[in-house]
Order: sequence, then C-alpha cells, then structure tokens
Amino acid sequence: MTEASAGGGSTPVSPGRTQPADKVQVEARSPAVRRADDVRSESRLAGASWPEVEARAAAAPTTLLVPLGATEQHGPHLPIGTDTAIAVALAEAAADRVPGTFVAPALPYGSSGEHQDFAGTLSIGATATELVLIELGRSATETFDRLVFVNAHGGNFAPLAAAVDRLRFEARDARAWSPRFGGDAHAGRTETSLMLALADGEPTAVRGNDAPLGELIEQLRTEGVRSVSPNGVLGDSTGASAAEGRALLAAAAEDLCATVRDREARHLLSPCGRQKVPGMAR
Ligand SMILES: [Zn+2]
Repeated sequence: MTEASAGGGSTPVSPGRTQPADKVQVEARSPAVRRADDVRSESRLAGASWPEVEARAAAAPTTLLVPLGATEQHGPHLPIGTDTAIAVALAEAAADRVPGTFVAPALPYGSSGEHQDFAGTLSIGATATELVLIELGRSATETFDRLVFVNAHGGNFAPLAAAVDRLRFEARDARAWSPRFGGDAHAGRTETSLMLALADGEPTAVRGNDAPLGELIEQLRTEGVRSVSPNGVLGDSTGASAAEGRALLAAAAEDLCATVRDREARHLLSPCGRQKVPGMAR
C-alpha cells in the first residue's frame, strides 16, 4: 500500500457519517510515475499529483489554461491536429512564464461541421461543444481560482462565448482568449508558418480559395468549405516560413500572458465572485 492510499480514505466520525479525505494529511509531492511529456514543467496538470495541485491552490491564486483545438482538415499539407497543436503551444508558453498557472490536457474536438466533407474531420458540433465547456468550467473552478480557455479554432468562437457567459453568470471566473494572428483564414500562409515553427517539415506552396473570408462565409456556412475550396485551403501557403511562425507565436503568447496577468490584477480588485485571495480585505 502506498503512503497516499494509506492516508487517503474516509474515516468514520459518527454513525452514518464519514470524515472528508481532506482532513487527513497527505504529503504534497510529485507522483512516483509520470509520462515523459508531462514532466517538462511543473505547470502541466496531467503530470501533477492531486496533493501537489491542492497545495499550490491553497498557497496562492491559480489559473488553469485549457487549450481548445479541433480535429479537422487543414488542406493537403498540414495535419488534422493543427489547431490543437497551436492552442497547446500557446498555453504552455504562457504557463511557463506566469507563476501560478497550470495547463490542462487539451480538448481536441470542437465545432467543425463546415469541414465535415473532408476525410478525417471529427466534429462534435456547436451544442455539444458549449455543453462540454460549461461542465468542464464548472469542474475546473472547484479547484482553480481562474479559468482561461485558450482557443485556436474559429468554429469554437460562438459555443465558447456562450459557455463563458454561462460560467460567469454562475460567478465563476472564466474567460475566453483566442490569438489574433491576422493573415489568411485557414491552412494558408499563417497556419503553415505556425506549424513550420512547431513541427518538422518543409515549406509547401498550396493555394486554395484566397478570396476575403467575408465573401465566402455565407456559402461556407450553408454548403461547407469544400464547396468554396476543393483542397480545403482558404488562403495561400506561398511564402510561409518557420521564422514567420515563431514571430506570430511569440506575439500571441505575449498577448496571452498579458491577459492572464491582467486578469490577476482585476481579480485582486474584484469585490465579488468565488475567488479566494489570501490576506485580502473583502
Ligand atoms: Zn486551423
């Protein structure tokens, strides 16, 4: 029996009642077994033990960053997990720089119905995405003072906004953040540069429909991306480079860091809410 399991059970205190496990002292230490990917930083939630997380949450305000991606086509030259990879990279970059921040395992599914005509796209739709984010947010704010969804997929905007509205209505400190890369809309120069910065590969010139998104959006919503771009690209990857991707990632990570820090400042000034601020007059 391990030390943690020896001290982690419930202890009867009166007939029919049990004593909560948090009355028992459990040492806050790293788990004895962890995946290599989860030990790169103490901010990775998947690699932490619950006593570690509990101790850090009790010592100072904590923020949980939840990367939101998608599993959808990104043209013939980029992987289906592109949005998720970008969201994870940005969340990890911010968590490594802002103390008190954890990165949750990413949510790799979202609202991608407009890409469904391409093989490999896995969409759970807007309604399910909203519900997942609400339930995830409710659960996350039981441990963490603040929650920031780090979203790298445009199709998630509407369900994410609705979920955050709901969570904030429930007085939970939740917020949505998305990078503002600019450039073309989907799997073009911008996303190709980002992936060249994050993964091994060579620049590939793939041209899709590079008309302004505003001209395509109506048909795209009603008939899907394939009806406006047979190869799935909305833009043109010509000119993409890892250097350009690194610059875009650095600027976006800086913006996310500012959002998390700013959130801390407003959090301390906030007169209401569920947050715990040790030592603050209320
Ligand atoms: Zn994308």
